[in-house]
Amino acid sequence: RAKQRGRNTFHVFDPALDRELQVRQEQRQRFSAALAGHELCLHYQPQVDITDGRVVGVEALVRWQHPEQGLLAPGRFLPMIEGSPLETALGEWVLDAALAQLAAWQREGIDLPVHVNISPSHLLSGDFGERLSGLLARHRRVPARRLKLEVLETAAMHDIQAAQATMEHCQSLGIDFAIDDFGTGFSSLTNLRRLPVDLIKIDQSFVCGMLEDPDDRAIVESVVYMARRFGRPLLAEGVETLEHARALMALGCPLAQGYGIARPMPASRLPAWLQAWTARTDWHAIGMS
Ligand code: C2E
Ligand code: MG
Ligand code: MG
Ligand code: MG
Repeated sequence: RAKQRGRNTFHVFDPALDRELQVRQEQRQRFSAALAGHELCLHYQPQVDITDGRVVGVEALVRWQHPEQGLLAPGRFLPMIEGSPLETALGEWVLDAALAQLAAWQREGIDLPVHVNISPSHLLSGDFGERLSGLLARHRRVPARRLKLEVLETAAMHDIQAAQATMEHCQSLGIDFAIDDFGTGFSSLTNLRRLPVDLIKIDQSFVCGMLEDPDDRAIVESVVYMARRFGRPLLAEGVETLEHARALMALGCPLAQGYGIARPMPASRLPAWLQAWTARTDWHAIGMS
């Protein structure tokens, strides 16, 4: 009865909700046009090993170069496409763009893995593995092992069977997975064990807080311990300062990504950053002490 009343009241007669739906619809149409009109781009953030300064990879992060509003971070537009087919459309664009960039870097002699974030609905869209295999065939100069997919813990847990099957299919194509934002979902160890995951990324919120907040520190320590027991490499996100890096080193988590190392940057800036980074010695020194 409530449902019936709800239908009558809200969908037909509630002007506020009607307006909200209309706005959402307009936003999606605008985003769809942006996708088709080349207003999206990828920025890349380096990931390093702080024991020796080695750059171990880069993460592709989508941006919207909005003609009026400037460069928009994903937090400004991902929520409005969530649950719509645009999520998969964006995901395919991102994969294609990242593979094209990988090919370009390979030609320039920059041989780094590129991490791509995959949304839950895209991963579980049914033919993810087949479509990815098609994309790899189109970018056949790119070694599949150079592409790494970051999935949220929650995505995998949503339908563990389907996630496992899709991930294993991708693995058979030579593609590795990372679990992103680890610690923010349910962190089911049983599930983690079932999934073909080669890297765990501990969420930036715990890393950012680990120097002041004993709870955050306890979480970081537990995840470091767990990752070691599972024999999985661990990468810390949100490394903003030298102190963070030192604390992580001391705990035995040498893989790091964060503003303290480099902010996400356009692909064109990466070669110069790599050169400057290699010339630096301060981060390298952390591992020697
Ligand atoms: P994420 O995958 O966990 O990416 C890390 C986010 O933290 C990025 O935000 C990055 O710019 C930011 N970050 C890096 N270092 C630091 C630091 O030291 N401190 C702080 N406070 N933040 C740092 P961004 O680019 O705004 O992306 C936010 C989220 O949007 C990503 O979180 C990811 O979940 C999603 N996202 C980004 N690009 C894509 C994409 O191409 N596809 C999908 N499906 N999701 C994406
Ligand atoms: Mg990520
Ligand atoms: Mg993350
Ligand atoms: Mg995140």
